[in-house]
Amino acid sequence: MWRMAAALTRIAAVGGGTAAPARSAHCSSMHHPVTVLCRQISTEAQSVAARLNSSGFLRTQALIGGKWTDAYDGKTIGVNNPATGEVIANIPCMGAREASDAIGSAYDAFKSWSKLTAAERSKCLRKWYDLLIGHKEELGQLMTLEQGKPLKEAIGEVNYGASFIEFSAEEAKRVYGDIIPSPLSDRRLFVLKQPVGVVGVITPWNFPLAMITRKVGPALACGCTVVIKPSELTPLTALAAAELALQAGIPPGVVNVVMGHASDIGDALLASPQVRKISFTGSTAVGKKLMAGAAGTVKKVSLELGGNAPCIVFDDADLDVAIKGTLASKFRNSGQTCVCANRIIVQEGIYEKFADAFSKAVQKMQVGDGFHDDVSQGPLINEAAVQKVETFLEDAISKGAKVILGGKRHSLGMTFYEPTVITDVKSDMLISREEVFGPVAPLLRFKTEEEAVQIANDTNAGLAAYVFTSNIQRSWRVSEALEYGIVGVNEGIVSTEVAPFGGVKQSGLGREGSKYGMDEYLEMKYICLGNMLSN
Ligand code: NAP
Repeated sequence: MWRMAAALTRIAAVGGGTAAPARSAHCSSMHHPVTVLCRQISTEAQSVAARLNSSGFLRTQALIGGKWTDAYDGKTIGVNNPATGEVIANIPCMGAREASDAIGSAYDAFKSWSKLTAAERSKCLRKWYDLLIGHKEELGQLMTLEQGKPLKEAIGEVNYGASFIEFSAEEAKRVYGDIIPSPLSDRRLFVLKQPVGVVGVITPWNFPLAMITRKVGPALACGCTVVIKPSELTPLTALAAAELALQAGIPPGVVNVVMGHASDIGDALLASPQVRKISFTGSTAVGKKLMAGAAGTVKKVSLELGGNAPCIVFDDADLDVAIKGTLASKFRNSGQTCVCANRIIVQEGIYEKFADAFSKAVQKMQVGDGFHDDVSQGPLINEAAVQKVETFLEDAISKGAKVILGGKRHSLGMTFYEPTVITDVKSDMLISREEVFGPVAPLLRFKTEEEAVQIANDTNAGLAAYVFTSNIQRSWRVSEALEYGIVGVNEGIVSTEVAPFGGVKQSGLGREGSKYGMDEYLEMKYICLGNMLSN
């Protein structure tokens, strides 16, 4: 705890200048040197951090076997506030040794956790849910501090993230098997569902809580234990949630959290025969590596990877509904979600009208520190994210796209970027090929329904797609034709714990949430009872 206060004091003394947080783990044998100079010192963020620190809510150690633990070599890494550049905490920079111990703890805890009744596990999860909701303000503040999203959105994520724990607590009691009518009179056939075992949970920075609870809720409900590796950029929300899991009575070793060198920890999880499953959310590139690495010990894998969501607006769409839905999908978390509308494909009859009305709506959005009430657009996560947006935009402009709003870094500096709308976008531009992961809305044009579907499916990704139309037959026809795991019709926000979330093609394998999300953490066992006719 004292480390954070020290870091803040040192930053306040430095002031002025800008620099971006680095992406890869640069461990320090001392406390993280304050190489990040702040252009603006946010007193609001500082007082929130100090409050969370003094209330004990800000955890800065990893959790292994129920014990809060430093890296074995004492190395740490700083966690930055992307809105200010301030180092808000130093966390352990761990590697393979700590990961192996966490795996060992999870393996030991599995023996007793998996033997509890479903009702007992359910009670623990329900208690955890209550604590998460009871601390939604603090968790939301922590998330805004380390991730940058507006506080209201962060608290929304706490509600959403906690809902997976509540849902899993309920589903724990419904892990049914089967009795199969036997083809032979002296045999009885059963299917039993059992927990997979220890699960390695690797998650990204854009949803610091929900991407964890979406995996850990069903895993624990089924009787699995977990080793979580959150992103080094946003570990504090994960650690606070783990503390609440302990307070909920979830036994030591059931939930472990380690962080630091991603590939070392990842390799330890992949190599261990005690880890029976990897559940990953993140980029397609890392997902492919993990899938290949899991082959060595033939582990199960669930992969929630990148998207390239098309958002098709037909001439017959209700314009207000289309604008509201597209805005919500595109600009949530400043465009940093895997289900963000990445290509807004608009029919020619409504194209100009849509572009004009959409830009006016985008222009109203306030950019700034997520702690300010009227802000809906926070900073991007780091300098690399801004540079990616700039590269994509330069490529689009060089190939004929026109900027009708924004198109540059925001005057606030740091990693703030102006909400941007560009028109005349074509399918061969970089921005149409890959997720931009920033507040840029590219507008493409189409003539016919067939062309819209062809453009939409012209990608290796297949996570979420959106359709805006008032024609019920068309909405069904197009939904069926889209090669995506999720389709929102006249709706831009589709995620909920009760529905299956996941992609096809290179957007991943498996589903999270809903009753289907439970299957990812269960093995099926067929039991054949023979000699059943003798007395
Ligand atoms: P990322 O770079 O793939 O990182 C995701 C996680 O993997 C982080 O914890 C990262 O650790 C870790 N990691 C990186 N290299 C690793 C390795 N060799 N072995 C093991 N772990 C490794 O993705 P990101 O930039 O954090 O997140 C953005 C991406 O996630 C986007 O592509 C987005 O579309 C996708 N996403 C998908 C969904 C979905 O549900 N489909 C949801 C949210 C996000 P460090 O951060 O510590 O390096």
